[in-house]
Amino acid sequence: MERRAVLRAAALGGLAAAGCSDEDRPPPTRATRPAAGRPGATVTPADWNALPKHLTGRLVRPGDASYSDARRLYIPRYDGIRPLGIAYCASPGDVSTCLAFAAKNRVPVAVRCGGHSYAGWSTGTGLVIDVSAMSTVTPDGDRATVGAGTRLIDLYDRLAREGVSVPAGSCPTVGVAGLTLGGGLGVTSRAYGLTCDVLESIDVVTADGRIRTCDANRDRDLFWACRGGGGGNFGVAVSFAFRTHRVGDVTPFSLRWPWSRASEVVRGWQRWAPSAPDGVWTSLQLNSRPSEGVPSVEVSGVALDDAGPYLDRLTAATGVDPGTSSARTRTYMDAMKFMGGCAGSTVDQCHGQGSLPGQRPGGTFPRTDYNGKSHVAYRPLPDVAIGALLRRFEQGNDVGDRSVLMDAMGGAIGRIRPGDTAFPHRAALFCVQYLAPDNAWLDGTHRAMEPYLGGTAYVNYVDSGLKGWARAYYGANLERLAKTKAAYDPGHLFTFPQAIS
Ligand SMILES: Cc1cc2nc3c(=O)[nH]c(=O)nc-3n(C[C@H](O)[C@H](O)[C@H](O)COP(=O)(O)OP(=O)(O)OC[C@H]3O[C@@H](n4cnc5c(N)ncnc54)[C@H](O)[C@@H]3O)c2cc1C
Repeated sequence: MERRAVLRAAALGGLAAAGCSDEDRPPPTRATRPAAGRPGATVTPADWNALPKHLTGRLVRPGDASYSDARRLYIPRYDGIRPLGIAYCASPGDVSTCLAFAAKNRVPVAVRCGGHSYAGWSTGTGLVIDVSAMSTVTPDGDRATVGAGTRLIDLYDRLAREGVSVPAGSCPTVGVAGLTLGGGLGVTSRAYGLTCDVLESIDVVTADGRIRTCDANRDRDLFWACRGGGGGNFGVAVSFAFRTHRVGDVTPFSLRWPWSRASEVVRGWQRWAPSAPDGVWTSLQLNSRPSEGVPSVEVSGVALDDAGPYLDRLTAATGVDPGTSSARTRTYMDAMKFMGGCAGSTVDQCHGQGSLPGQRPGGTFPRTDYNGKSHVAYRPLPDVAIGALLRRFEQGNDVGDRSVLMDAMGGAIGRIRPGDTAFPHRAALFCVQYLAPDNAWLDGTHRAMEPYLGGTAYVNYVDSGLKGWARAYYGANLERLAKTKAAYDPGHLFTFPQAIS
């Protein structure tokens, strides 16, 4: 029987997908909105009515039939946020038009691609600039031009048909824009780098409305900032040019141990996984589902060749024979579906359901409601930290489902220097992600790990409650990012609670 996929969405498949509903009222006849630090601005219905005339894409407004769907993100807890408009921009020119509209009318702007922001910062009460309609993928030899609205499943699918790919994340509905701008950790990152590491150039519409092609020679600081500086900060990305790598069959695998051996497994995995051969990536997962009683400890991975030797070496590193293990060689595309939680589904089914850009009428990929926090580990956890972490799973069964995922880094990720791109965590061993719908458990678990991992976080697991977030996300790259922000968005058109300033 085929195991359900192992990463985020799948690890949390049991968490409630609690969609909220609220009625779709028509817009007020005259709205007064604060914008980007300039309160008191006004925008009239006539202004809004004029906007679509200048767009090739579509503007969805309150009262439109698709409004309740269009305003939703992946995480249902933000369903109550009601933008004044959602513009599905079909071209860079549309984005420029929207930015000019927002600036002129002082309407706050939020930029959206796949809508997976943990903090809900790709929506807001003003104008949402959605790039999902720009989703073409054009392979060309060992390069590919990718529209900023492309979902990961479409990226993998189109490229796999040419026998190539780029290293990217696992969830099929994540957007290439949000992922790449914050870094992009995936199952082939140890072999080929982060998604942002294979970025050759990027087209960005900046606050002044200009469409800029940035690369190693043009707008170099902006190009640097777009590789790990986080989405929503510097402009609206509209197109990416990636280097691709050839793909063949790969082998997803997993090993599961009894919970009573969890501390040995964590201790052995964290010493083996970050320095394993580049061709193998692993994620250690601690899960607790009250319905299943005892928590579980599991390592899932992908081997670019035969997994057998890696299973043996990992078992030796932990010193404990797994209770169960499985491995099956698959085509690259099947493996990406499997790791993304939509094994056995068609590409269309691996989308969210609907007829808006980014969705498919036959889509079946579910939304999931949870919150996340992260750390980035530069040193192995000492035994006392492992004990504290495991106790978080053994106590408080009333808090519901919870997971900690530790994704191995190292390999190609670590062969780039921390200042070469805006993603600073090059010397890290692994990325730790805490996931649960229960904020108190998340905060408590994060706090328990602070003494050992504190002061670090991955910007793509954006955390609205994180103290010291700027240094934690960006490390020593923060000052250059702030200078770049000042140069390209001096008026802070692009703003949100953790925007670079
Ligand atoms: C289920 C799930 C699985 C995940 N798996 C992985 C994984 O395997 N690896 C990994 O590294 N991360 C993963 N993430 C984190 C993911 O990379 C981030 O949430 C990412 O920001 C999502 O991008 P998005 O386009 O889908 O989201 P959005 O919410 O649309 O955007 C995220 C941020 O980027 C900004 N943004 C969006 N589009 C643009 C644009 N065109 N130009 C400028 N800014 C833009 C938004 O304003 C927002 O601040 C996962 C998240 C979830 C919820």
